[in-house]
Amino acid sequence: MDELLKRIMTAIEKSGRQYDTAVIEEAYMLAKEAHKGQKRESGDEYITHPAEAALILIELGMDEETITAALLHDVVEDTAVTLEELKRKFGQSVADLVDGVTKLTKLNFTTKEEQQAENIRKMLLAMAKDIRVIIIKLADRLHNMRTMSAKSEAKRREKALETMEVYAPLAHRLGIYTIKEELEDAAIEYLDPIAYEEINLRLASEKEDRNEFLQLIKDKLYNRIKPEYPDVYIEGRVKSIYGIYRKVYMNGRAFEEIYDIYAVRIIVDSVNECYNILGIIHDMLTPIPNRFKDYISTPKQNMYQSLHTTVIDKGQMPFEVQIRTWDMHHTAEYGIAAHWKYKEGITGPTDRLDERLSWIRQLLEVQKESDDVQDIVRSIKSDLSPEEVFVFTPKGDVKSLPLGATVIDFAYAIHTAVGNKMVGAKADGKMVPINHQLKTGMIVEIITSNVQGRGPSRDWLNIVKTSEARNKIRSWFKKEKREENVLEGRTEIEKEFKRNNMEFTAEEYEQFIDEIARRQKYLTTEDFYAAIGYGGVSLTKIMPRIKDEYQRSYRTEETPFIEKAVQKSKRERKASGGVIVEGLEECLVKFAHCCNPLPGDEIIGFVTRGYGVSIHKKDCENAVRGIEDENQKGRWVSAEWETSAKETYKSTIEILALDRGGLLADVSVALANLRIPIHSLNARELKDGHAAIEITFGVTGVEQLKIVISNFQRISGVVSVERKTR
Ligand code: MN
Repeated sequence: MDELLKRIMTAIEKSGRQYDTAVIEEAYMLAKEAHKGQKRESGDEYITHPAEAALILIELGMDEETITAALLHDVVEDTAVTLEELKRKFGQSVADLVDGVTKLTKLNFTTKEEQQAENIRKMLLAMAKDIRVIIIKLADRLHNMRTMSAKSEAKRREKALETMEVYAPLAHRLGIYTIKEELEDAAIEYLDPIAYEEINLRLASEKEDRNEFLQLIKDKLYNRIKPEYPDVYIEGRVKSIYGIYRKVYMNGRAFEEIYDIYAVRIIVDSVNECYNILGIIHDMLTPIPNRFKDYISTPKQNMYQSLHTTVIDKGQMPFEVQIRTWDMHHTAEYGIAAHWKYKEGITGPTDRLDERLSWIRQLLEVQKESDDVQDIVRSIKSDLSPEEVFVFTPKGDVKSLPLGATVIDFAYAIHTAVGNKMVGAKADGKMVPINHQLKTGMIVEIITSNVQGRGPSRDWLNIVKTSEARNKIRSWFKKEKREENVLEGRTEIEKEFKRNNMEFTAEEYEQFIDEIARRQKYLTTEDFYAAIGYGGVSLTKIMPRIKDEYQRSYRTEETPFIEKAVQKSKRERKASGGVIVEGLEECLVKFAHCCNPLPGDEIIGFVTRGYGVSIHKKDCENAVRGIEDENQKGRWVSAEWETSAKETYKSTIEILALDRGGLLADVSVALANLRIPIHSLNARELKDGHAAIEITFGVTGVEQLKIVISNFQRISGVVSVERKTR
């Protein structure tokens, strides 16, 4: 038996899965014979390529037909073997898979847009027919990327671009992270070799420190978690090169300030354990604010689930912690391929394969409806690759920018001075407007002018996509144009007040604006104006607060809750069943955010203008005030809960407690004991040794909520438990 075949057989044995090895050996021998005499550009025998592709797929856990087809994937295209022969020897499915891969191989995704649309459509059709075709194609591409050094420079760049644009996003959409990361790392090596080398060197030079650091963290975590959860598994790793690349080169962060070069994974058996362990982690290490993400309650589109948090130990590097169950882990690593790899182990009522692939059908639908070819390509590409575009300078340097970025972003990505002096731009040799959006493969030339006093325009702030460009434009204005900024800021604020029907006497205005500026932590009102002027403060962001303030100080008739009630509420969908409103059948019912009523609460309805009825608690401040208001007469109607309602309702509780070890764990255990699902959980440390925990969960009604609250109150160290009504 030759060396390659032996490796395949060993891999199969190690996989622990059942394959008919005779069939696989037959496929291997046929391919070897057929490719005899053919060489790879690297000089290797051609058979190494299909064999390596098959090995990747065995590791991925794919089935026998897929492995067989992978071994044969190039014979129809490159040798005398026919599809009929394959069908006779290996059956219809294997022949179809080989046929699918052969057709895909002929598609080129770096050609003109019209043709690309057609090619992408063909690929989607093949995927819709049998998704295994694209999984073989991914393995094929991965091996080609691993062995690309023998190819010409131009060919390498073309393949790398296609990989970055089409294949890595596909792997991402299919959730196959292992392949996605390797494809991206390999592609960026050719697309931006200098940056790749820089990151690589950096990582290599710190390798020992890094391993030591990761080992230290792992030990520490094991020591603390293992006594309570003996089956816990912890692994530490460094993020992929491309992951670091995106942070350093695309988001403009310094190497030193990337929090999540390090990631620690904690894998346990159940969802409850995930939340409990999160509590333990936040207890032993300091969480970095705003870095907690709950992908368990809201999975990513490709089904990825985990809890993410970033923490820091005294005097150490911050690092990211990912907490997940084994099921979630398999999905994260193998994505769609987990369907084959863990087929026997998959529990649950339905096989989710179909559901997972529905986006392919949706894309095909979109394509059917639109007839603007360029539009189609763009929509499909942006759907596949939601994140970025690669654009070249006239000298051939490549810059990667987020999708939707414009030529202004590009100018600032080259250099601050280039952005500040920009007067126009050419894309692929033609003049384009400055809001022109970048597309992958474009060659962009920035035209600058050295005339004194020229600079960026304020409108650019609304055009640019990257925060890098926005910050640079802002700092130019901040430095150059103080007086203008003050004037601009004042005009903008006055305009905005008028638009919102906020009326003042001159005296009132000065007093009001001084107060706002002080609250925004500006020393003088002028500073505040200036900040708005150069864009340092976003007026749209702070307007809602200012409006609230105004309502409170100057007006009482129209309460802002009406607006709040019509804001899209996640509960909209579920709610309409649970409430009966007097005199109105089948009306749209919403729950007011000001008081978040639950079944069991006494309620009352308010007929909004055009948005159905919003339900308040009877003792809600807004309701009490509103009922007495002459202007709202007749719009308040009685409402009651339908007694048969069995739905669960989201409720949010804030717990204030003495900060101590295991606090979060106790809180999540209290809910777990009642079998209550947690929707989200957020904890923050207060300066005085207390901690505030905000937790959202589903309850059937007030009765159950009361039980939860009393259980929380019994937890040691808890000072107060409050139901949050917004
Ligand atoms: Mn191939």
